[in-house]
Amino acid sequence: MNPKIWLSSPHMSGKEQSFISEAFASNWIAPLGPNVSGFESDLESYLKSNSYVAALSSGTAAIHLALVLLGVSSGDEVICQSFTFAASANPIIYQGAQPIFIDSEKDTWNMCPELLEIAIKDRIKKGKKPKAIIAVHLYGMPYKADKINSIANTYNIPVIEDSAEALGSVYKNKKCGTLANISILSFNGNKIITTSGGGALVTKDNNIKDKAVFLATQARDKDPSYLHSNIGYNYRMSNVLAGVGRGQMTVLDQYVIKRRQNFEFYYNQLNKIDAIEFLDEPEDCFSNRWLSCILTPDFKTRENIRLKLEKENIETRPLWKPMHQQPVFKDTPKYLNGISDGLFERGLCLPSGSNLTDNELNRVISTIKAYF
Ligand SMILES: *Cc1c(COP(=O)(O)O)cnc(C)c1O
Repeated sequence: MNPKIWLSSPHMSGKEQSFISEAFASNWIAPLGPNVSGFESDLESYLKSNSYVAALSSGTAAIHLALVLLGVSSGDEVICQSFTFAASANPIIYQGAQPIFIDSEKDTWNMCPELLEIAIKDRIKKGKKPKAIIAVHLYGMPYKADKINSIANTYNIPVIEDSAEALGSVYKNKKCGTLANISILSFNGNKIITTSGGGALVTKDNNIKDKAVFLATQARDKDPSYLHSNIGYNYRMSNVLAGVGRGQMTVLDQYVIKRRQNFEFYYNQLNKIDAIEFLDEPEDCFSNRWLSCILTPDFKTRENIRLKLEKENIETRPLWKPMHQQPVFKDTPKYLNGISDGLFERGLCLPSGSNLTDNELNRVISTIKAYF
């Protein structure tokens, strides 16, 4: 059996260990310390646009805190892109709020601006103005932030930018993660850089960062006697894991280049096959190509290719199953146009790690070519 090729596996640079050793040497093993603030300032200088970063235990925690900070509570409605990973939507339920799912557009596979506006008007007509909008840069492709933000501004609804998959992507010369007043990042093991598990809340408002850190560290009031006037969470990133993040930040730009090279390679090798399509970068969009995805003509072809690759010990995944198709969200209001259903049926994510070798990429290509 050939060795396993993973979809997107962690890729250490070799620089992580020294930051971790520093944490051990100074006994900073707590969920605060110099690596946490160092990782935050590394991210702030990378993202620019006057960003403030709070390092947290996960991207999911960051979305949850974003909703708390925006005052989302029981009975509120929150609009969310349907074509995404469940972690974008689950925190809406943690707050006792009601998700409203919006389908995708063809150009970016992300939230369709037209449907968003239709949904907002309809929710208002039905009696409730949505409290927030969660838009996602799926697979690293930026959503059309200008259009989404302008609709959000018209109705005065805040946007939460889910940039979990898009660190290193750029929209109109601005880094993804800086396109809303509150954005989130993830450093889970499969993301473009990892702290093994972790996330961040990014904001342009220093007060929001302070509040996020306060809530993420059990909401302890400034008082020696453990005084609480708010419900808190244990969501801060540990100083050990932030050390991994600091090491990873030294190679982020290289990893973006490598992931984009993976995409280029697949594109050049497979583009001539009529049955395979790729998502081009629309004008103004620069994708980190976190995962390279292909579209096949139908479900059967998609599954045949997936199973053939699996037999060769090559891991691939269908594109995300839209939230409106999930059993757990079956009674959730939704505004659909069929696009994400089609993408889910026909789409496959190919191995995309920044640590893939030429030999591994060639194995993927020859297996797919052998199918055709
Ligand atoms: C990974 C991911 C998250 C959640 O991040 P975690 O750090 O795993 O909690 C949220 N949204 C999207 C789109 C993701 O891909």
